[in-house]
Amino acid sequence: MNLLLHICCACCLCAPVQELRKEGFSVTGLFYNPNIHPLLEFRRRLKALRVFQESDPIPVVYYEEYGLREYLKHVDYEGNDRCADCYMMRLRFTAAYAKKNGFDAFTSTMLFSVYQNHEQLKGFSEKLAHEAGVAFVYRDYRYLSDCSHEIAKKKMIYRQGYCGCIFSEFERYQDTTRELYKGGNLNEQGKKNSRYVFDSKRALQRCDCFDRGKGASFPAPPSDTAC
Ligand code: SF4
Ligand code: SF4
Repeated sequence: MNLLLHICCACCLCAPVQELRKEGFSVTGLFYNPNIHPLLEFRRRLKALRVFQESDPIPVVYYEEYGLREYLKHVDYEGNDRCADCYMMRLRFTAAYAKKNGFDAFTSTMLFSVYQNHEQLKGFSEKLAHEAGVAFVYRDYRYLSDCSHEIAKKKMIYRQGYCGCIFSEFERYQDTTRELYKGGNLNEQGKKNSRYVFDSKRALQRCDCFDRGKGASFPAPPSDTAC
């Protein structure tokens, strides 16, 4: 069966793609993610998938245009449910692409993430499959999440620190930003909200200008996946 797999980055792909193949699916990837911002982050994730392809030559259809405007057009970003619109935008495109290009079915790596709304994704996919007239392959590979991320780490594949949109980037780092620039530690609330605690001493030791007593740019936070 020819399966079109929507891929948002390589992290949730590494292990599940092997399972899908074991089941006999012939998998083609689709990189369509107008929700990833800002531009350089979008390019990083796109490149991560290309790096993945170097060791696993899965065919992938890339939509390489940066989709900030497209995302904003589709998503009610002032309401409370932007993720539902965002899921819909990407799944609708995937279902339509699968139908138009003769795939037997579609699915998405979003379903393999422990951080996404799994039930909502499943419901939307079933609805869109019905509307588009193409099958949806439902699999719950969330139990492979750790394994998948370990493989990504070993392959030196970039692992992002937030879900994708500029809002999720803010939500992820809002409690760290100010302190990062001060070079201090997080306040108590920040520690509670964030999985990343800034270690200013370590950062300064790694800073080239430390010996000269100048303040300088700090290293980027570790890219521990948070979506
Ligand atoms: S880590 Fe997030 S962006 Fe990457 S594949 Fe999984 S759900 Fe998509
Ligand atoms: S948090 Fe993730 S799923 Fe939700 S709108 Fe942003 S990119 Fe889309």
